Amino acid sequence: MNETKIIAADLLWNGIQDPPIPNCAIIVEGRFIKEVMPVNELPAVALKHVIELQGATLMPGLIDSHTHLSMDPTMDNYLDHLNDTVTELTLRAVAMMQKDLIAGITTCRCLGDKEFLDIACRNTVEEKQLRGPRLLVAGKGIRAAQGHGFVGYPFDGPKEIIKGISENVSRGVNLIKFYITGTLQGKGQIPSYLTKEEIILLVNESHKAGLKTASHCVGGEGLDWALEAGLDSLEHAYHITDAQIEKLAKSDTWPVLTPSPLVLMKRIEHLPESLIPGHKKERDQIISRMMALISSGIPYAVGSDGMHGELAEEINYLINMGASHIDALKAATIHGAKVAGIDDQTGSLEAGKKADIIAVPGNPIKNIKTLKNVIAIMKEGEWIMKPEK
Ligand SMILES: [Zn+2]
Repeated sequence: MNETKIIAADLLWNGIQDPPIPNCAIIVEGRFIKEVMPVNELPAVALKHVIELQGATLMPGLIDSHTHLSMDPTMDNYLDHLNDTVTELTLRAVAMMQKDLIAGITTCRCLGDKEFLDIACRNTVEEKQLRGPRLLVAGKGIRAAQGHGFVGYPFDGPKEIIKGISENVSRGVNLIKFYITGTLQGKGQIPSYLTKEEIILLVNESHKAGLKTASHCVGGEGLDWALEAGLDSLEHAYHITDAQIEKLAKSDTWPVLTPSPLVLMKRIEHLPESLIPGHKKERDQIISRMMALISSGIPYAVGSDGMHGELAEEINYLINMGASHIDALKAATIHGAKVAGIDDQTGSLEAGKKADIIAVPGNPIKNIKTLKNVIAIMKEGEWIMKPEK
């Protein structure tokens, strides 16, 4: 079934070029982008099939680089709700992925959920039994028995870590997630709950299995160890120091910024009561460190950490913290694809890539708020939200 679809709009931002290109059309054949070309070069026979979106911009489908399918921070005590029954968690996960998809998020990188429900969701979407974003999943997040990790599972020492990785691998995860630190600095140093040797082991064993590694790590010596070990993505980095930013710049590790857990006051207030004062206290300091990372010029991706369907808001926070519109948009498109290792498939609008396309009213490079009002969504050549012609 290689049906051809042609979409055109006043502007096209392909995920790479700045500024957007005026009057462009995308020819989609089957699941893939066949060609991106000026509207006036379209063959006459094609013209009557074109869906033309006046005043709109076509851009790549969004990528949420850090989420958890069964997390819903709009619920009171939302972290406690991660201990709901697996049935409740799974039903919530299905609802949350619908929310993501209709917000224009065509790919999610899911960094840990309970009982491999993320694998079930991914497979169900791939088998087309349910509609949802393309999911890359981490299965059971690995955390130290005495450590942090609300959606992680405790593993004690190297033997259990290896067992944890191989259980994830045999279930078919797309990447390995582990927890090095907690989230807040608290008093003094940020402890690493994993030893340097355990971090090296996690990275090496995952790489041996052909999988990338993502780690919840906010700072402290664990962050240095992770960079030295060759970690693929550093999640949160809330307390990264200037010296560590320099080290990060020289490494192959990607930072993934997750603003809303600390920026969005409404979300902080939905935390379990014991966690609220600490988050409020460290909020300003953490925002200033995210700003330092953004201004360093190191490329980064962005994630909602469970704030489903609200990636546009996370992009807006990046801009409020000093990111250019283009860099913030890249974080949620091409850079997200690079972090996930799927930039040969998605993240930009180029011939040969999967047709993950959204349209927004107006120009998102001038007004990021347009991202909150997606008017057309195509995932892998299939209309999720088809615009009126
Ligand atoms: Zn997370």
